Amino acid sequence: MNLSTGSCNACGAVGTALMKFSLGKDFFGRPYDRLSPSSDQSPKWYCEACSMQKNLQRDFRDIRTEYDKLTAGHGSELSRGDEFRRASLRLREISALLSATPQQSPLLASNDVTLLIERLNTATMPV
Ligand SMILES: [Zn+2]
Repeated sequence: MNLSTGSCNACGAVGTALMKFSLGKDFFGRPYDRLSPSSDQSPKWYCEACSMQKNLQRDFRDIRTEYDKLTAGHGSELSRGDEFRRASLRLREISALLSATPQQSPLLASNDVTLLIERLNTATMPV
């Protein structure tokens, strides 16, 4: 690993330790390379703060995608009650972590997270 050059792919920070971000598995435990083979082949580099936010962004996107499938009547991970509750808790956690960060995340807007939490609140929880 070469940590001496380059800048953070999200906020552009230089002179700080950068970490390679690999998508690995998604929030629902599915391997990413099954869903998006190209995304893991060009890893990006992030500073510590953005690396943490990147994880939040990934979980948020996974949950939003499944929520969209649920509302469209397609098969969704969120149609299982335990996954629905887990996703709901994770969104609250993401929201709390974002609001604890002094500056607006370059990766994830807290408004988007709040909106999705409200939508999940009004969705019928699967049994
Ligand atoms: Zn950064």
